[in-house]
Amino acid sequence: MESMLRGLNATQRAAVTSKASVLQVLAPPGSGKTKTLTSRVAYLLAHEGYRPQNVICCTFTIKASREMRERLRGLVGGDLEGKLVLGTFHSICRRYLVTYGHLIGIPNNFGIADSDDSLGIIKRLQKKIKFGMEPRAARNKISHRKARGQRLDDILKSTGKSMEAQEFAMIFQEYETALATSNLLDYDDLLLKCVELLRKYPQCVSNIEALLIDEFQDTNNVQFGLMKLLASAKRRITIVGDPDQSIYGFRSAEIENLNRMQAYYPGTVVINLEENYRSSSAVLNLAQDVIEQDEERPSKRLKSTHCHGTLPVLRRVPNPHEEAAWLVSEVKRMTRMTGGCLEYADIAILLRSAFLSLLIEKALANAGIPYKMVGGRRFFDRVEVRILLDYLRVISHPDNNSALLSIINTPTRKVGDGTVAELNRASEAAKVSLWILVQKVLKREVSLEKKLSKPAEQGLGELVALIRKGQDKLKTFEPTQAPGKLIELVANALHFQDYLKKQYKEDWEDRWENVQELLLQAKDVTLQSLTAQDQLPEVDGVKQAQVEGSQEVLARFLANVALSTEVEADDESEVKPRITISTIHSAKGLEWPVVFVPAVYEGSIPHSRAEDTSEERRLLYVAMTRAKALLYMTFPIMQSRSESESILTQFLPSNVDHRLKDVGPVFNDQTVQDIATILQRSAPSQELLAHAATSLDESESQFDDIWPADGSPKGPFLNIETDMPTYYGRSAQSLAGAMR
Ligand code: ATP
Ligand code: MG
Repeated sequence: MESMLRGLNATQRAAVTSKASVLQVLAPPGSGKTKTLTSRVAYLLAHEGYRPQNVICCTFTIKASREMRERLRGLVGGDLEGKLVLGTFHSICRRYLVTYGHLIGIPNNFGIADSDDSLGIIKRLQKKIKFGMEPRAARNKISHRKARGQRLDDILKSTGKSMEAQEFAMIFQEYETALATSNLLDYDDLLLKCVELLRKYPQCVSNIEALLIDEFQDTNNVQFGLMKLLASAKRRITIVGDPDQSIYGFRSAEIENLNRMQAYYPGTVVINLEENYRSSSAVLNLAQDVIEQDEERPSKRLKSTHCHGTLPVLRRVPNPHEEAAWLVSEVKRMTRMTGGCLEYADIAILLRSAFLSLLIEKALANAGIPYKMVGGRRFFDRVEVRILLDYLRVISHPDNNSALLSIINTPTRKVGDGTVAELNRASEAAKVSLWILVQKVLKREVSLEKKLSKPAEQGLGELVALIRKGQDKLKTFEPTQAPGKLIELVANALHFQDYLKKQYKEDWEDRWENVQELLLQAKDVTLQSLTAQDQLPEVDGVKQAQVEGSQEVLARFLANVALSTEVEADDESEVKPRITISTIHSAKGLEWPVVFVPAVYEGSIPHSRAEDTSEERRLLYVAMTRAKALLYMTFPIMQSRSESESILTQFLPSNVDHRLKDVGPVFNDQTVQDIATILQRSAPSQELLAHAATSLDESESQFDDIWPADGSPKGPFLNIETDMPTYYGRSAQSLAGAMR
């Protein structure tokens, strides 16, 4: 027992061992909510006799679920830990649907439409039924409605007479039909169908003794309903969350769910955690100043368990190019000047919008600094990766029209747009999937209005042959090898490397590298997590769908791809340490020693299209509270309409000078020592630091670290322009001049 509670403070222990049937742990970032939740699962299994197959745990990050598995492996043994139902809401729902979906008429080989697929479907609809609504807006609106639990009937019923409303109802209807013909479920469907399943067949979860949920503040209406259903047998629920970190309102998350839960389960016990173990006081204080600008929120202030540390830096730059350049130089300087205490893997760059990464990626690449992208435009969405995955998707699940359409002429096989349109039309007329139709056409069982050209017919024949070959070979592959082998098979058959060379003369090598990375991941995922963990525990009296070896593993691999919210955030097995670039949204729950937040100007954050400024403030708060030791924020003046419109005035309090007296210079013996202490690392020796400082080469010497001799800084940040006039070996005037 003691061993399990080691490393937890008294309040955390109370939460871990609480006998409460419904428990909410509400606390600010870095207070150990996720840690507490993980410990509670272990505690329930090891001390309260819960069996892992009867416990469901919803986590947001892969890191959290990995941590949880590791802890449990030590505590309850590898075999049992594997049975825990662990994952995001979406992946858990998928597992229930794969196992029991047949009860409500969902074939267990359904595919998952990710948001690009959904958009593609709507764009194709627009060609067919001409509507004015912008496809992206239509997709978002559909998702909003579904996230509130509305179905086609509700939409049709609630539709007003206006043209717009009727148009939307029609798009909705057609979209749902398109999904159904392709045997696809979109993200919202995964949740909705699972709700439907559990309403009709509560016995599927009759074994569930405890439900635990992380990041509860970001649950939506449907997820709230799911919570009630999943826990219906024993009503034992633990949730952890933080209303101040609610950042998915734009995707229909409801902060209100915290109160709704208390109302629905009278006797809900609430525990608050009060210490922050993640960030230095300097970082934490500033973040709290930001969130306290929200006047509607009850005031609560955390204490950091760490020393004051280095002040966060706010840096004005002339334009986005210089912003990227400065970031790179600062990364170099930091890794150098801390004598190896900080490395690339310690650094994260968190972005309000994914597109902001372009310049930064370029600058990092030019400087030879390795990085990886998380969230936003994901690895799996890169064109070359996507093509191969779409082949796998068709092999796994040929009725998926979306996937088939995206590869039907890629690489080109003389199947032109006209042909594709004709095939589409015919498949709709015949009410069969495109895959079935194409085969019928090739066998001359169906004739088209516009006959296929010879080359098109040959091209389609080759495609069908390749898909069939993949399907046949798949059966012969060792299950855990299946995804990797199949990717190799497809890439070879398509002469994919030559295709990339021809198609992308400039950067085909990078793209080929991505293909290699995909192969690695396919093999890796297979080995790590695609063993027998997908099957849900046997529940008495409910028939489970049959699981078949390699096909099942392939389907699960593809589902993992579709549902991955992030690529591994801190992969220890990684050979070369890399900087992480992520959207703020995907960084939720994670932490890094060093965090950069570029583009903090009005229009970016708060975003120009954001409806809810307080959500934008919370977003900045989430970004800032990811940092353990060093926090940098930058904004190009050019982007801000005027200086007064930068986030300085939007989000930051004006008089917080009082805390700033004890600030020290950046990267001298003392500050490096502080950083090491916060990170619980050993500090480099003084000789090493001295050497680092003197070994800077010419080009780096302008970043020499000189603290202003004339006293302490004047704002809540190190404002390099005013506070550190010689910081970069240039005078404040020349810097200011450069910025104008
Ligand atoms: P967020 O709201 O950002 O998700 P959180 O409340 O879930 O944050 P955790 O990620 O669980 O916080 O913990 C933050 C950090 O503090 C982690 O590195 C964790 O290991 C550490 N930590 C938590 N509790 C303690 C403790 N009692 N002693 C030492 N370290 C702790
Ligand atoms: Mg957490």
